[in-house]
Amino acid sequence: MDLLLKGMAKEEPLLVVGLVDTETVEKARSIHDTYPTASAALGRVISGSILLSSILKEGQRVILQVVGDGPLREIVAEADWLCRVRGYVKRPHIHLGLKDGRLDVGRGIGKGFLNVIKDLGLREYYHGTVPLQTGEIATDLAYYFRVSEQIPAAVSLGVYVGTDNSVKASGGFMIHALPGLRDETVEYLEERLKGLLPVSTMILNGLSPKEIMEEAIGLPIEVFEWRDVLYYCPCTKDRVLDAIVALGKKDIEDLAKKGEALNVQCEFCRTEYAVSKKEILSLLNSIESSNKQPEG
Ligand SMILES: [Zn+2]
Repeated sequence: MDLLLKGMAKEEPLLVVGLVDTETVEKARSIHDTYPTASAALGRVISGSILLSSILKEGQRVILQVVGDGPLREIVAEADWLCRVRGYVKRPHIHLGLKDGRLDVGRGIGKGFLNVIKDLGLREYYHGTVPLQTGEIATDLAYYFRVSEQIPAAVSLGVYVGTDNSVKASGGFMIHALPGLRDETVEYLEERLKGLLPVSTMILNGLSPKEIMEEAIGLPIEVFEWRDVLYYCPCTKDRVLDAIVALGKKDIEDLAKKGEALNVQCEFCRTEYAVSKKEILSLLNSIESSNKQPEG
C-alpha cells in the first residue's frame, strides 16, 4: 500500500512530508512500458507531483512538467488533493548507462525547465517556472520552492529499478522550513541530510514514510495525516470528445471530410477510445448549431 505522511517536527518549525509510492510508480512503468532510465525519471516526477499535492486544499490539483533537451524530452505528472496521480514520459523507451552506480536521470532530461501549474479551482490557476538546475528533479524542485514560493526546502526523490526492469522501490520526502527556524537547526539538518542513505535504499529496507522522515531529520515527528496514494486516470469517452471539440471547427471539418473513424489514446493511461464517423459528424453539427444561437 502506497502512503503519504504529513506532519511536523515536534520541537522545531519544520513541515515534513514522507512518501512511499512503489506500487504507483510500478503501475506507471507497466502502463507506459518504460525502460529503466525513463522509469526512474517518470517515477521521480510522479513522486514530486504527489509531494506538491500534499499542500493543496480540497478540490485542487497540481501538474508538474519537466521539459528538457535530453532524450526523454518531456515528463508530465498530475496529482490531486487526494493523492491520486497520473503521468507520462514523452519517450518511454530510453535507457542510458549508469552514472556513479545510479540511473542517469539528469542526462536523460538534460537542460530545460520545470513548470508547476496549480489548478486552484474556480478557473484560477497558478503557474511557476524555473530553469532546471541538474535535471535530477529533487534538486530542481527544492530550487523551485526557494525561488518561486519563497520556501526554504529540502527534497529527496528516489526510484530503484530491479534487474527484471520492474520498479522495486520509489518514494521521497520534503522538508519545509517554516518561519522561526533557528540557524543552528538549518546547519544541523544540512549536515544530517548529507550523510543520509538514498531514499530508495531506505524503502528497499522496508522503512515506512514515518521512519524515513525520522531518519532524515533525526527528530521526533508529530503526524497530522496519512493519505493513500493511487494511480488514477479520470479520462472518459466524453472527455475525449471534449478534446476533439477543443481542436476547433476547421480541424473537425477536416476529420469529417476524411470520413474515417478515429482511435484516440489517452496519454496518461493508454486507454484507446474509438470515435466513429457518425460521432465526428454529430460533434460538427453541435458546434454549428451552437454557433447559430444568438449571443446572450
Ligand atoms: Zn486516461
